[in-house]
Amino acid sequence: MDGGNVPGRRADAGRRAILKGMAALVGAASAAAPARAAATERAAPDGARAPTGAASYDVIVIGGGFAGLVAARDCSLRGMRVLLIEARDRIGGRTATSAFQGHRIELGGTWIHWEQAHVWTEITRYGLALSETPGATPDRMAWLSRGRLIEKSGEEGFALLSDGMQRYCDVDGDLAHSVFPRSPEPLHAVDQVRPFDRMTLNDRLAQIGLAPEIEDLVAPNFTINAHRDPGSASFAEQLHWWARGDFNLRRLFDCSGHFKFADGTGALANAIFADGSFHFLPGTPVRAVRQARGLATVSVDGGAYSAGAVICALPVNLLKGIRFEPGLDPRKLAASRAGVTGTGSKTYVHIRQKVGAWLACAPYPSPITLAFTEQERDDGTILCAFSAGDSLNTGDRDALQAALRGLLPGAEVVDSVSYSWTADPYALGTWAFYRPGQLTDGTFEALRRAEGVVHFAGGDIAAHWRGFIDGALETGIATARIVHDALRRG
Ligand SMILES: Cc1cc2nc3c(=O)[nH]c(=O)nc-3n(C[C@H](O)[C@H](O)[C@H](O)COP(=O)(O)OP(=O)(O)OC[C@H]3O[C@@H](n4cnc5c(N)ncnc54)[C@H](O)[C@@H]3O)c2cc1C
Repeated sequence: MDGGNVPGRRADAGRRAILKGMAALVGAASAAAPARAAATERAAPDGARAPTGAASYDVIVIGGGFAGLVAARDCSLRGMRVLLIEARDRIGGRTATSAFQGHRIELGGTWIHWEQAHVWTEITRYGLALSETPGATPDRMAWLSRGRLIEKSGEEGFALLSDGMQRYCDVDGDLAHSVFPRSPEPLHAVDQVRPFDRMTLNDRLAQIGLAPEIEDLVAPNFTINAHRDPGSASFAEQLHWWARGDFNLRRLFDCSGHFKFADGTGALANAIFADGSFHFLPGTPVRAVRQARGLATVSVDGGAYSAGAVICALPVNLLKGIRFEPGLDPRKLAASRAGVTGTGSKTYVHIRQKVGAWLACAPYPSPITLAFTEQERDDGTILCAFSAGDSLNTGDRDALQAALRGLLPGAEVVDSVSYSWTADPYALGTWAFYRPGQLTDGTFEALRRAEGVVHFAGGDIAAHWRGFIDGALETGIATARIVHDALRRG
């Protein structure tokens, strides 16, 4: 893609290094997913770049992740003139299909499920296929408890985990149904949610007094959802995950770690992109959003664009870095400064051993919180390993091997790959999981609220699958409808 005349390509050296690393990783996938490059080439559907200067649109969408992509598509299909501005040279945001050891991998968002209504509609719409991760239904399980490695069959280990998780989440004798009776409307029973939103994940663990070896099996499985120190995250968020999984651990595992796009998340991003008809400005970070008298002006380096509405589809953690005039609701800013909790890592590791369908976990702050088989192969196994917060230096091969050996004695690392979304200036974190209080103290509602003609979308502020691809799609679809109706009303 020729980005030569695109404004706003001046990144500082640190940013450039991180994004270059990403470009190399994503580039590695182009053989496996050739459609990706073609889709971004089609960036400006009429063959022209969006003109700089005083160009005017009905809607400007900021951010080409799934929320922004689907918002741009839907707005354009409703007849609006749309400009999508994206800081990176690619679409997809916190999803990126790549390749590792000849195997298609996802550096970011991966697993999806038919229970996720928005993503499944898109899968139906574009006829996309599924593939599976073997470690989601393990034959063997292991976990670290107080320095001891406990090993079980998959069936026995999962039954213990499922039972422990059920005790952890059953706050009302009805598996928490009274807390989230309508999962897509998380504040429907806000008075029931509030007390649990004041608690951390650790507070709840301390409350129920599980046997130590069960506690050490259960704790990693909610820690990984927060992707950070479980003392920093809201227990109500975990209850909402549980409700999304139909109050059942097997279903939640299926939704969050089992089924993925056979052709990668890039296949969906490309399909949405190709379906819409909008101007696209890649490699262009937005610096400021001003609004006056019902018109918004979006500034990038060397230019500005105006529109009757803006859809800001950025991660919450980035809002603090954009100049909004008038200023944003202070609760949005406070949430952005505090940051959502997801800041851990995801690493693919090729090991020499053949371990079959295997899953292992360890409580925080163990360097690896959860690891499982991603691909069984003739020359060993590819594992997918998650760490919470910064508990593992993924670039340190020896540290990675040592951490893995804690769960899989004798493991020999052949190669590994990871990408730091937390260091990435256009993500500053992984997925959204809220801090105590943020769901019920007005923060969540403030993050979702439009301010004048500026509307907000993104997986981080979704009502239902918050922190997921489905949540990003949910907000993009809903916001496109709201903006269309508002502009029609004038
Ligand atoms: C490691 C990891 C694993 C995950 N696993 C899963 C999973 O298995 N299943 C699942 O459903 N979800 C998963 N997620 C979460 C999921 O990927 C995200 O919730 C979802 O992709 C967010 O989409 P979005 O459009 O809201 O935000 P983003 O994808 O972050 O899109 C925002 C876009 O805005 C752009 N941008 C940033 N700043 C600017 C600026 N100043 N100007 C213009 N553009 C800008 C960014 O470059 C980006 O393209 C995972 C995420 C990570 C990181």
